[in-house]
Amino acid sequence: MPIKPWFPTFIYESPLQKKGSDDFGRALLEECRKVREQDAAGQLWCRENYPSGYTSYGTLRTLNRTFSAFPTFIDLERKIWPHVMRFTRRLDMDLREATLAMTDCWVNIMSKDAVHPLHLHPGAVVSGTYYVRTPPGCSVIRFEDPRAERCKAIAPPRVAQCRLENLAQVTCDAEAGKVVLFESWLRHEVPSNPTLEERVSVSFNYTWI
Ligand code: FE
Repeated sequence: MPIKPWFPTFIYESPLQKKGSDDFGRALLEECRKVREQDAAGQLWCRENYPSGYTSYGTLRTLNRTFSAFPTFIDLERKIWPHVMRFTRRLDMDLREATLAMTDCWVNIMSKDAVHPLHLHPGAVVSGTYYVRTPPGCSVIRFEDPRAERCKAIAPPRVAQCRLENLAQVTCDAEAGKVVLFESWLRHEVPSNPTLEERVSVSFNYTWI
């Protein structure tokens, strides 16, 4: 073949666990709501800055290390780790010289019309989300081709049967019990949530320290 694909972008999607995900999801959902209840400062911030949504990102961002208050988050970190290992192996990352650790872990609760605009996670290596509660029809997560912003030239559109690796945008459905991982430089967004019921997820960063 005269043409080879270089610089691919990998996105990892998998059920977190084979069995017991309903019980685990219920326990985690309860704790996510408890986080919101207890986070008066976060609620206040969200009222101003995150319409129809709640995130503990600015206030309670190390939920994986809050031993007594939110024990299920510690379980979550333990369960995510093998997935992160699988992902980093696929990326051929050599992890021997330092530690890849979950440094941030926070809750996102999106009510109807909440939007999470395009962003990336500076400073981290691998980021991801675990879906806790996903009412039918709730928002997807959408990833953007990282090369698009490098060149603003007008480019021809893609054919209808475009190969997966040539798509300019990729979406992953939010499904309770699923973990999604991506490299932290990959920009993503959650479009306006259309569901009356809350869409609940836990996001996290792994940093090389
Ligand atoms: Fe994000």
